[in-house]
Amino acid sequence: MAIFILFAGRFNSVSHCEYYYINDVFVHETAIIDSGAKTGTGIQIWHWTHVGSSAVIGQKCNIGQNVFVVDQVTIGNGCKIQNNVSLYKGVLLDHSLVAGNPTKQIGWMCMRVERLAGHLHCPCCGKNYQRIESGLTER
Ligand SMILES: [Zn+2]
Repeated sequence: MAIFILFAGRFNSVSHCEYYYINDVFVHETAIIDSGAKTGTGIQIWHWTHVGSSAVIGQKCNIGQNVFVVDQVTIGNGCKIQNNVSLYKGVLLDHSLVAGNPTKQIGWMCMRVERLAGHLHCPCCGKNYQRIESGLTER
């Protein structure tokens, strides 16, 4: 899907995932982010989600509804956390897609809204990724 944005005085056609990439922080009014938590730019945090005081959330993440991010959790960049997930401890690699309780990684994301297809290809913007130690990087 192409979305047109007036940018630097001219129209650029950007893909759906890139459109969300450049948008800024959204935190729903029912979400609670304890003071001390570190949150990156370009994140979305939805209804009734609670982020603990020593949690770290990377850039361009999408945290769903009713998600519990306890202290000592680090979420990498570009991750998507599905609804009703509880994260108690540990590190999520960049571009992870996680769901369920107990939580499992079920895939990879381009940015916070587009799931990557096989071979880590984004069907939305056409970017290709590869695995590295910290998660994914653009190829
Ligand atoms: Zn993409």
